[in-house]
Formats: sequence, structure tokens, C-alpha cells
Amino acid sequence: MPKRILHALMLLPMLAVLLTAGVAAAATDATDSPIRPVPISTALDRLAAGRADSATLVGPDGSLELHIRAGKLHLIAEVTSQLSDDVVAAARRGHVPLTIERPRAVATDLGGPIEQPFSIGDWMQTWGPMILLAALVAVSAVALRAMGGARFKNRLKPVRSVTRFTDVAGIDEIRDDVAEIADVLRNPAPYERLGAQLPKGVILHGPPGTGKTLLARAVAGEAGVPFFSVSGSEFVEVYAGLGSRRIRALFAAARKAAPAVVYIDEIDAVGGRRTGHSANGEREQTLDQLLSEMDGFRTDPSKPVVVLASTNRLDELDPALVRSGRFDRKIAVGLPDRAARREILDVHLRGRPVAPEADPVEVAAMTAGLAGADLAALCNEAAFEAAREGRADIGLPQFRRALMRLAAGPERRSRVMSDEERRLVAYHEMGHALVGHLSPTCDPVERVTVIPQGQALGVTILLPTEDRFLATRTECMERMAMMLAGRAAEELVFGEFTSGAADDLNRAAALARRMAGEMAMARGGTEESLLVGLPAAGGDRSAEDVERAAQDLVRQAFREATALLGRHRELLESGARRLLDAEALERDELAELFGPRPGAERLAPLA
Ligand code: ADP
Ligand code: MG
Ligand code: ZN
Repeated sequence: MPKRILHALMLLPMLAVLLTAGVAAAATDATDSPIRPVPISTALDRLAAGRADSATLVGPDGSLELHIRAGKLHLIAEVTSQLSDDVVAAARRGHVPLTIERPRAVATDLGGPIEQPFSIGDWMQTWGPMILLAALVAVSAVALRAMGGARFKNRLKPVRSVTRFTDVAGIDEIRDDVAEIADVLRNPAPYERLGAQLPKGVILHGPPGTGKTLLARAVAGEAGVPFFSVSGSEFVEVYAGLGSRRIRALFAAARKAAPAVVYIDEIDAVGGRRTGHSANGEREQTLDQLLSEMDGFRTDPSKPVVVLASTNRLDELDPALVRSGRFDRKIAVGLPDRAARREILDVHLRGRPVAPEADPVEVAAMTAGLAGADLAALCNEAAFEAAREGRADIGLPQFRRALMRLAAGPERRSRVMSDEERRLVAYHEMGHALVGHLSPTCDPVERVTVIPQGQALGVTILLPTEDRFLATRTECMERMAMMLAGRAAEELVFGEFTSGAADDLNRAAALARRMAGEMAMARGGTEESLLVGLPAAGGDRSAEDVERAAQDLVRQAFREATALLGRHRELLESGARRLLDAEALERDELAELFGPRPGAERLAPLA
């Protein structure tokens, strides 16, 4: 089966994390803890790994400070304006809310008696700060624009990439493709003699964090040619004509520096489908410019320029962009399989002391669904764990804990829950764990807690034991029942339910919609399934059909969860009591508590 199709069929291969979101618990407690300066690299790693509650960029342009709050920690790092992009990227990767704080020149204290004769001094005292603030906003808007311009000018100066193919692991399937591009760039003569021409444009596509940017750097690094790196979003500006001017400038600079590599990250920002809608006029003008540059430049074959671009969403690109003569070579960069994960781990564990018993093979086995960037973050996080525990090297338990932490955020044992809420959370989480345990196709439960963690009050984590690329209908249903089991337990035990299941319900609904809409799994085993949502004459019937079928699936899964919990009520009770006592239960303890799991064959032929 072609890889693309495999991808489309793959069902959320990531470890499943189910958490009880505490709505009231969402507020971060920014208490006055001492500020600790850290190097910017440390700060970025922490953000990218999601090991922070919030982050703030403070200060005038040019001398920014990055403040990171994580529990009681308050870290601070200096940031140059060139690095601010990286901060944003890291915060997005780690899902850490990032805000930007412009400096406030005046401390405002507007208290005081109301009735007073007008005096310019008072007037200034009242309005001065606001005027100053308004001026500041205006100035910083101008500065921001200038900064954007200056930053882009920097982009027109190529860099020498030091990245090599050895830094990119687990890419055997596509190594030849990219190596060839690097080879032609380095030594075009033999190719030129034979009339072999490089593709002008190559699209690297695949999920985030799979190493597309890294690959582009490695191509330039291996070829030893100048590397121009821009992001699609830099061409999307509110100022008319700026985007297309930038495209022109970029290509002019690249031609002058040839042989060279131009890399456009997240090209979908400019290359999305054109609509002809006037609201998108500016972006489409930029895209037109890009197209005409691609058509126009027929470089001297002895001085090639290759344009690499990356996107997470190939199917959303404008068809004109991927036509022949433009970005006509496409390279799929997929999520790494187990062997590839092992190689990527090796790269990121280079130079880090790993305990002899911590076999990367085992770490690779428990990280199905993670991308290269996640694995890099995992290695870093595991090193932190080891340091915190005062160890000399990184052991398997540290990797496990790091994985749990990356999946659900840092635990915050200091947050106090009422006994009432703790009890509810314990039943809720135990509901997930028990239904997961009793459903043969669910991944094993790795850990259940009633410890506040990230935004959650309790967490259940299921870890895959193998790479699966297909999802059966049974698997989908059992997974959905497991997702809804927290809510089912609340209702069963308390006759009441809470806001804590909101995240579970969203995920179950999303899965149900995919089952009904994309995977034709609505009505099990019959051709009826295929017909759900088929476009019918007259309007939106298909969407409505899918929605109704999805509702049926959710209803069915919820009933299943309730029934299972009802039948094993005493396990639910003893499990919840044990959990309340221990705060956290690991895989072994759960196995002992629940007894053996029912076995099942996934894909056995019917007799
Ligand atoms: P993408 O551009 O696909 O989103 P990146 O290239 O930005 O991904 O990857 C981010 C980081 O993740 C890299 O800098 C590297 O540390 C790590 N990484 C991702 N894929 C790999 C890989 N195949 N081998 C080694 N490291 C990787
Ligand atoms: Mg990238
Ligand atoms: Zn839940």
C-alpha cells in the first residue's frame, strides 16, 4: 500500500493521554518565586518540551527577555531579536501559551479624590500614561515593521549550513533522493554533460517535527552551498505588495549566490489554494510572483539553484504550485517506525551518558507515534530527570518518566484538591483504566494518577507496545469506550458528572466523526457503513448523515463503557480506593489489581 494511504488510515498512533481537566485549576499561580537566569538554549528546550505553564517575552525590541513560569519556577533568558522566531516556534511546539509584553514606561496609579479643579499636572497624571502608552503602541508598530524588514534583509544573506546527513536519522527511504540533490549542487559538471537537470522545486511533506527543515539544512550542508532559509509566513504581510517584493528579492539573491539552496518553510502560508476572493488578494499576488519566479528562472546548469519547501498539508497547496516545472518533486517525510526511532534516539543520545541497561531499542519500542522532534525533546527531558535525581547517567525509568511528563506536563503535587474532588477524579481515572484494561485491543495502561499535572487533576496514560498502521473497527470502538469511561464512572458512582470530562468528550467525538465520515465504519460490518454520508442530491445531507452516525457511535461506546464498569463494579471501587491511597499506580500494580487481560486476535481470518 502506498505510504500516503497508510498515513491516512493510521489512527492516532500516539500514546493516549486522558486527563481530567480542572476548569478552576487552569489559572497559573505566578507566585513571587526567585528568578533564575538560564541560557537561551535551555529555555528553548524547555518550551519545546512543554515543560512550562506560560511564557512571556518582555522588553523593548533588541533586548528581549524571555520569562518562563513552570510551577514555582521562574526562569529568565536573554533573547536577541533574531531569536524571537525560535521562541515562538518552541512555544508552539510545546503548546505553551506565549504572550508578548511591551515595556510600560510609567507605573500608573490613578487613585485619588475625584472632585478637583483642573490642573495640567493632574491631567497629565491621569492621561499621561495613556498617551504614553498609545505613543508606545504606535512606535512599536513602526518598529515592528522595521524589524520585520530588517529581519527579512537578513534572510537575503545566505548562511553556511553545518548540518550533515549524519544528523538526520531514520530516513533510509528518502536518503538517495536528497543525497542526489546535494551531489548535483556540489558537482554539477557530470550531470550537465549528460543533460540531467535538477528539479527546480522539491516539496518535503509530512507531519510536524519529522525533520523536514533539518533535511533541507543537511542538503545545503552536504553540498557546501549557500543556504537561504525563509518561512512562508514572512511573505504574508498586511502591506500591499510587500510579499511579492520579498519573493523577487529572495530569488535575485539566490541567483547571484548560485549554486545555492533556497528553503521555504511552511509554504502553505503562501501556497494555499487560490480562491480568487479579494480578501486573499495580497497572498495570491505573492503566490503569483512565486510561480513566475519558478517559471522564469532557468539557471545556468553549472550554477543550479534548488528551491526546497516544506508543508504538513500537501493536499492544501494550490495545484499550480506543484505542476511540472515548479515544485514537481515531492518527498514524503513520514513518522519514523521503530527502527528509525532507534536511529534518531542514537543521534540525540550522542554525548549523553546512558546507563548500560537503558537499551535504546526499548525506548524506541515505547515511543510509537512520536516524531523526531518529540524524540529529541524526550532525550533532553530524560537527561533532566536524571540530573534531578542526582544520577550519573540516564536510565530507563528516566526515559519513562520523561515520556509521561512530555505527554501530560509536569506533575504539580503542591496543588491541593478537596477530598471530594479527589475522590471524583479517582473514580473517573479508574474508569478509563479499567475499561482500557478490559478491552483487549486497547493499549496497556501505563500509569494512572490523581496528581494534578499540567492543566489536569488526574491522568491516565496508555502506551502502545507496537507500531500499528491500521485501525480495526473494534479497536476504534474500544478506544472510544475507554475515552468515555471516565464520564461513565462519574455517572455510575455519583449519579452526577463534572466538567472534567470535556477533553475526553471532544476526543471521542472527533474519533466518531472520523469513523463515520472518513473510514466508513459507522455501521459495523455492513455495506450500510459505506453509504453513510455519501453525497446525495440536495444540499448538506451527507454532513448530516455523518453527524447522526457519529452520534450513534458515541452512544454505543458510552453504553459499552457503562456496562463494563457496571459488571466490574467491585474492581472499580477497589481500584479507586487504592488510587486515592497511592496517588499513582503503575502498569504492574494495575495488572496485579485487575488480574489478567482478556486476549484477542486483531486480524484473524474468519474460519
Ligand atoms: P519539521 O521541519 O519536519 O517540522 P524539524 O526539522 O524542524 O521538523 O525537526 C525539529 C528537530 O527535531 C530537529 O532539529 C532535530 O533535533 C529533531 N529531528 C527531527 N527529525 C529528526 C531526524 N530524522 N533525525 C534526527 N533528529 C530529528
Ligand atoms: Mg520545520
Ligand atoms: Zn477523562
